[in-house]
Amino acid sequence: MTRKSVLGEVREVQLAIQLIQLGARLQFLESEVGLSRERLIRLYKEIKGVSPPKGLLPFSTDWYMTWLANIHSSMFYNMYQFMKIHSDKEKVWILIKSYKLYLQQIAAQDSEPILDFTRAYTMVRFFDSDMLQLSTCCRCSGQFVAHAHDHKSGYVCVLCRPPSRAGKARGAKRAAAGEVAALGIEGMGFGVETAPGGTGLH
Ligand SMILES: [Zn+2]
Repeated sequence: MTRKSVLGEVREVQLAIQLIQLGARLQFLESEVGLSRERLIRLYKEIKGVSPPKGLLPFSTDWYMTWLANIHSSMFYNMYQFMKIHSDKEKVWILIKSYKLYLQQIAAQDSEPILDFTRAYTMVRFFDSDMLQLSTCCRCSGQFVAHAHDHKSGYVCVLCRPPSRAGKARGAKRAAAGEVAALGIEGMGFGVETAPGGTGLH
């Protein structure tokens, strides 16, 4: 068994702190951080002041398909993909950076984050295991989170086709338009490229 370097351990602790602050669950910490479960629990209690919550991680892809969740998930995943292409950092750090960028964008528009860190991480895993895909909307050309193996041609996104429940359709459409304007996500993927420097890509 090789002894861990002190610097390596400091790095693991820093990673754990960042992840706990962003709201990562214990299961995630255990799989991503090379510290013992006992140390992770101690760190968690120190930072959050409470024990880590028990319970399973979310496992259904359906959550990402609901209207507002799909808008936020698609925005996050477009950012994550951009970061992945333009950064040579480890995946977990790319995840942290893109999630912080997502929070920044939401806060800048006085909006509430819908996608929590665990959902964001779970979504990346769903993409990696080929359960989700990005589909291009044939009306607005934006890229949106969709079930994998769905037909890609003729796909219409949640913004171009908001839920049309009886009597709520117009309100939903207005809300959708407001959400797009607020988040500046027309065309998906664009916001990141035009973002001012300092997103820490390099
Ligand atoms: Zn669309």
